[in-house]
Amino acid sequence: MARAVPEFLPIRGNGLARSGGLLLFVVLLGAGTAFAVGDRGADGDFERRDSFHFTLYQDVDIDESAGLYGSRRFEQEILRELEAAFDRLDDLLALRPEGKLVVYVWDPRLFDEKYAGLFRFPAAGFYAGAIHIRGATRLTPGLVRVLHHELVHAAFDAEAPRLTLPAWMNEGIAEWFEARAAGKRAITARERGALAGAADRGELFSLADLSVPALGGFQPVAAALAYLESYAFIDFLVQAHGERGLVRFWSAVVRSRSLERGARRAYRKDLEQLEADFFRSLRTG
Ligand SMILES: [Zn+2]
Repeated sequence: MARAVPEFLPIRGNGLARSGGLLLFVVLLGAGTAFAVGDRGADGDFERRDSFHFTLYQDVDIDESAGLYGSRRFEQEILRELEAAFDRLDDLLALRPEGKLVVYVWDPRLFDEKYAGLFRFPAAGFYAGAIHIRGATRLTPGLVRVLHHELVHAAFDAEAPRLTLPAWMNEGIAEWFEARAAGKRAITARERGALAGAADRGELFSLADLSVPALGGFQPVAAALAYLESYAFIDFLVQAHGERGLVRFWSAVVRSRSLERGARRAYRKDLEQLEADFFRSLRTG
């Protein structure tokens, strides 16, 4: 059972800081949303290919099936990346979903036709009981990041199917994981600057503001800040208390079904205090 909530999120946590670039959003939708997802795409059959932890359905319009740029090679590369991401998820977050995860990689044109109406921005993917990705014909760095990001949502859904996590935690950890997996170890000076500016203008969201199940109701610019802030808060926790602290935190939250108990167990502080520490860190940064 998936959370019956929509959410928006930019692919990158630094969407706020980018000026001219296309702001891409990844969206999580509830299982109740009607998707005409079958085993056939408008271009024909979805190709099915399995790896140990994933079932991949792929429908990108690629001319060749064999060869260096053929669809078979593309599918193998995606599955290899997903398996590597699965191992990183275990290493960094001690999340190890049982049972196979289903991933749809859509032809970008079909994806846009089908789902563009659901998003304010061109969408990069979403999670709704299965991972849905707006495909490319190559395994691009952007595609790699989206796969990592959505994997976190899938893993939390598998770990605690009936627990609705606040957006700052679910999105923050997903953003943190995709950045960390790409080798990024902290928020950038530019991201910090954007947050400090928002702090000066009194525009930062409180954790309470970001405790909705999903950020779908946020306007695009506010959503970019909300995702960046969620990521920065998780990054702050990791900088202050280590990566293992983050594992202790999410597992305590899932076990106790309480954010407060999870915070006290992992960080010996309540959330209000952690939030105050975080805001202070932005001001002195
Ligand atoms: Zn997300």
